[in-house]
Amino acid sequence: MDIFCDKLKEECGVIGIFQEDINSISRRLCFGLVALQHRGQESAGISVINEGKTKYYKDMGLVQEVFDDTILDKLEGTIGVGHVRYSTTGDSLCENAQPLVVNMKNTSISLAHNGNLINATELRDELYDHGSLFQTSIDSEVIANLIAVNYEGDMPKAVSKSIARVKGSFALVIGTNDMLIGLRDPFGLRPLVLGKLEGEGYVFASETCALDVIGAEFVRNVEKGEMVIVTEKGVESIFYDESQKKRLCSFEYVYFARPDSDIDEVNVFMARERAGRILANESPVEGDMVIAVPDSGIAAAIGYAKESGIPYGTGLIKNKYLGRTFIKPDQKSRELAVRLKLNVLKENIKDKRVILIDDSIVRGTTSKKIVTMLRNAGAKEVHVRVSSPPVMYSCYFGIDTPSRKALVGAEKEIQDICDMIGADSLAYISIDGLKKSIGCGENLCMACFDGDYPMEVPKKSNKFVFEKN
Ligand code: SF4
Repeated sequence: MDIFCDKLKEECGVIGIFQEDINSISRRLCFGLVALQHRGQESAGISVINEGKTKYYKDMGLVQEVFDDTILDKLEGTIGVGHVRYSTTGDSLCENAQPLVVNMKNTSISLAHNGNLINATELRDELYDHGSLFQTSIDSEVIANLIAVNYEGDMPKAVSKSIARVKGSFALVIGTNDMLIGLRDPFGLRPLVLGKLEGEGYVFASETCALDVIGAEFVRNVEKGEMVIVTEKGVESIFYDESQKKRLCSFEYVYFARPDSDIDEVNVFMARERAGRILANESPVEGDMVIAVPDSGIAAAIGYAKESGIPYGTGLIKNKYLGRTFIKPDQKSRELAVRLKLNVLKENIKDKRVILIDDSIVRGTTSKKIVTMLRNAGAKEVHVRVSSPPVMYSCYFGIDTPSRKALVGAEKEIQDICDMIGADSLAYISIDGLKKSIGCGENLCMACFDGDYPMEVPKKSNKFVFEKN
């Protein structure tokens, strides 16, 4: 768990580029990864392919900590794949950083995966039985091994055949000697877009903010069950599985994605602002000021303020320059961490009835500390409004969630949560309200709120234990 915040955690961000000019690819990939940094902060990696030769560099840390000019200068190529990671399966080790680079007969692949496979353990055992070797403890290596087993000279065919075996969520970018492939799972759980570099190539990325940063134009979303193949001849599309209904992760809009991104053509900031407006209508309360838990609560707080007519103000200031490594994960340090991360703007909230907007409550521990800080700073009343429904079920599709027992929404009634966090009142947006705010209701996964998973989920964890002599 990130000791700085009580949120669900996105697993990864992916990017891939196919271009003519060999010189600028590593910087473009690097800038794109910086834009996707919010999707994973544990490790970063770039792989480039030039005339059949693959070079790569990956390490633990933020993108700017991993890459410098010397490293980027050495990564020249016409095809490139990049990845930022937060671990949900597999330990937080350099061996598990991506892209995975796998050599096979007459070619190699660089693979970057956002998502989680729920049948990885069975597939891994099956592959072991057939002599496959594994270097990492991540589920993505199962896909790479399946592709190696199925490859007979036709990469899209090998990928389709391999993907037909896996269950779970995946947005994949795969670079080979002569093509770049982007694909999404049959439910479209994790996002992936296609962009165009002016006159000279194509880009796949988890979010449109990465396209904006490198000056690429949005072309379209990669659709659920679709594989898009970019070669020198242009762009080709194969729908490898059209049997499922779309179930895009609704939490992308609640918290994961950057507010300036469009996810499946819905702008994230606008969806959050609409959620705030709906919340104001569903759960009005008298107050003097609407404030946000920064940064992810800001858009919904603005929406709540606009709809209710109660002024929006700043009540909490976030320290944006905190490192992640110097605080130990013990209880005392966790408490300190919240105060290091957030401080109250006392003059603004003293003697006021404050309406505090947060995007989600997972364990409830951070909410309690924030409410206490506001009261200690002189707030007369603290009313908490949450722009997502109670998180009641664990996610199996690439999002790090605590077990159900640790989810306060699963364990307690709303009034009990209100008492626990010490607020004067607490209300969450309804499931219908959240769907309405995003605007593509039935095409969403809402399973962490309603338990309606798009596929059968495993009874036991599929985390691998990494052992090395
Ligand atoms: S269970 Fe929740 S976090 Fe997981 S994919 Fe579905 S909506 Fe997203």
